[in-house]
Amino acid sequence: MNVIAQAQFKTGARRYDMTEGERKIRIEAAAAFRLAYHYRWNLQINNHICVRIPDRPDHFLMNPYGLGWDEITASKLATVRLDGEIVSHDGVELGPAGLNFHSGILEARPEINCTMHVHARPGVAVAATKQGLIIVDQSSMHLYGEVGTHNFEGFAEGEDEVPRILRDLGDGHCLLMWNHGLLTIGRTIAEAFLYMRRLVDACELQIQLMAMGTEIRHIPKEVLEVTRKQIVEKRKSPRYAQTEWDYHCRLAERLDPGFAQ
Ligand SMILES: [Zn+2]
Repeated sequence: MNVIAQAQFKTGARRYDMTEGERKIRIEAAAAFRLAYHYRWNLQINNHICVRIPDRPDHFLMNPYGLGWDEITASKLATVRLDGEIVSHDGVELGPAGLNFHSGILEARPEINCTMHVHARPGVAVAATKQGLIIVDQSSMHLYGEVGTHNFEGFAEGEDEVPRILRDLGDGHCLLMWNHGLLTIGRTIAEAFLYMRRLVDACELQIQLMAMGTEIRHIPKEVLEVTRKQIVEKRKSPRYAQTEWDYHCRLAERLDPGFAQ
């Protein structure tokens, strides 16, 4: 057996009763993994995106441990019950830290249908600074009032950490996990993806600014508040986040349509 064959991922897909909603959301979820890989958000075979199955809300999709995100396809995603039981495949494993806090969020927050956690290098860099994230440009304004912080407690494998992650998220959609990485949540994949895109971009900008070593021009508080109100209005549209996500789905198809298999 050659090295590649040995390393090949075992996908013991089980026959089970897959809903129509699951068939559709599998493809959309696979696109999210490929796009995250394209943007270099994830760390090799680690990190997680979880997506609740719309017509089976106590089940969600998650990447099995061992696959790079460029290798993920719709049929390779594991279907997992909220209690952690894999129902779709035999012989696959889930990362314990990821399973723990993603399933914990989905269980506690029924309106949230997607969680994304990545170790994007710009995010890890900002998460290792004392001051944390600064919001200093128009694009990052979508993050204003949305970003909580969470202390590093070691690998997040214990269920007891979940309540603290939920507390630190509060009403926001983003978490800067100190000395660790980034987490976003959303009612849809589109929403969680939009927040992650903005969050990684803001961290990149901050690194560039810090490297310049020049004094930073901060946005006055009253302008921050005016802009926040404008964004609150934008969010009332059902197309908020969705238009950008539609573009990203087309991009995923152009990059490699094989993700949908
Ligand atoms: Zn992590």
